[in-house]
Amino acid sequence: MAVPTTGGEGRRVTVIPGDGIGPEVVAAARRIVDATGVRIAWEEREAGAAVFRRGLPSGVPPETIESIADTRVVLKGPLETPVGFGEKSANVTLRKLFETYGNLRPVRELPGVITPFSGRGIDLVIVRENVEDLYAGIEHMQTPGVAQCLKLMSSKGCEKIVRLAFEVAVAQGRRRVHCATKANIMKHTEGLLKKTFEAIAPEYPGIEAHHIIVDNCAHQLVRFPESFDVIVTSNMNGDILSDLTSGLIGGLGFAPGANIGNEVAIFEAVHGSAPKYAGRNVINPTAVVLSAVMMLRHLGELEAAERVEDAVTVTLEQGTYTRDVRPEGSVSTTAYTDAVIANLGRKPQQAAPARSHRPLQLPRVDARPDFVTVASRRTIGADIFVEWAGTPDALGHSLESIAETTTLRLKMISNRGTKVYPSAGAITDCVDHWRCRFVLRDDAGDLSDEALIDLLERVRARHRWMHVEKLSEFDGAPGYTRAQGED
Ligand code: NAP
Repeated sequence: MAVPTTGGEGRRVTVIPGDGIGPEVVAAARRIVDATGVRIAWEEREAGAAVFRRGLPSGVPPETIESIADTRVVLKGPLETPVGFGEKSANVTLRKLFETYGNLRPVRELPGVITPFSGRGIDLVIVRENVEDLYAGIEHMQTPGVAQCLKLMSSKGCEKIVRLAFEVAVAQGRRRVHCATKANIMKHTEGLLKKTFEAIAPEYPGIEAHHIIVDNCAHQLVRFPESFDVIVTSNMNGDILSDLTSGLIGGLGFAPGANIGNEVAIFEAVHGSAPKYAGRNVINPTAVVLSAVMMLRHLGELEAAERVEDAVTVTLEQGTYTRDVRPEGSVSTTAYTDAVIANLGRKPQQAAPARSHRPLQLPRVDARPDFVTVASRRTIGADIFVEWAGTPDALGHSLESIAETTTLRLKMISNRGTKVYPSAGAITDCVDHWRCRFVLRDDAGDLSDEALIDLLERVRARHRWMHVEKLSEFDGAPGYTRAQGED
């Protein structure tokens, strides 16, 4: 299929108008970028709701993928996954297809956009891991009534995002990086991010590095938002924190974003398709316009980027704003866009914080899949997960008798993470999903696959099992956590 390129000669950029308000905000951003005189050859491609409805389960057609693989730069509107079509979000598909592992979400206070935080000088950027964590979308129903989502985080993924966060600080002349995790509870997944952050921070002696528990980070962001500069965090935590930070400066209409990978960069607002406003010419295009500013900087068009950023600030200083700021006196999306274009070349009274915009040095992290190797490893047991509608004691007695003549013993059973067998006296509302922890009788042993399969055969004869996890030690350190109440 022949697909159009507009804008004549120039740097090729794939543009995806998207769904709902997407076409309106992306059109506004394109008009403003074109008005700077920077020559962009826009390659318009499709993704999202209409593609799902045509029966393509990814929501991203091959010609869009081809164009992105070629241009390496995308300006994108929000995409929807219509109910009943496709299982995966087209947004997540795009981020994962092109390994855009870092999501930059800057916010700063803007003139005329009055919020409870006006005058505090908010100016921060969230660096969100973009392809791992719970959003990898690996989910299974374990029993008819118990669902599981795998939270996968890798050393490599953590190193890439942490290095990216420090490099963002260096490129933008920022002084402080906070790493927000839930490492106090999820010691191996969120803990990996904390550990990686603490290992890499000394390489950047000019930048203050602090770890903060993510719930406290949300609390401090509302109390002292001006104390944050760069926040690096995992995928879901970053998704939530960045909507919060958008709220601090006037809402999603002002929150731009960039999905950064070593090969491809996708620029898009934090907001979604806000379908109730689609086609009404009332929404705020600033978030996508500021995403286009990030794109211009990425393309090395620093002067044009600054002109657009200044023009947005001047427009707001002049009291021209859209409905989301205040309904009274607001203007349409197109009138706001016209005003920004008319202000290109004007300098704001309230200049944005002086920021250097040196090119971002993207971390080149070792590409080998076995990113971490260890000197020693052994398997000391296994958790076998079974479905069971009886009592913990009945299950425990049954499994103890099953393991009696094997090299393994039943250490404990937990239900949703709490030890219920042998009973520690806790009051636990049990469901039909039980983790049964077997460990080697010989403390120094190494569990063979044959011994594990033999045990599984015996369990299978009496019980319905749904998955098995080996209990591994790497370089002598346990690679698993204990259940609540387990010694
Ligand atoms: P949303 O589209 O971001 O809208 C939530 C609310 O934020 C709107 O109702 C509106 O608030 C405000 N808002 C968002 N963009 C605005 C703008 N440009 N100007 C002014 N106000 C704006 O979130 P949602 O309703 O949860 O999601 C709708 C769809 O978008 C879903 O299908 C979702 O999956 C998708 N989505 C896509 C992306 C993406 O493509 N990256 C991201 C998020 C969501 P008021 O109602 O207060 O006016």
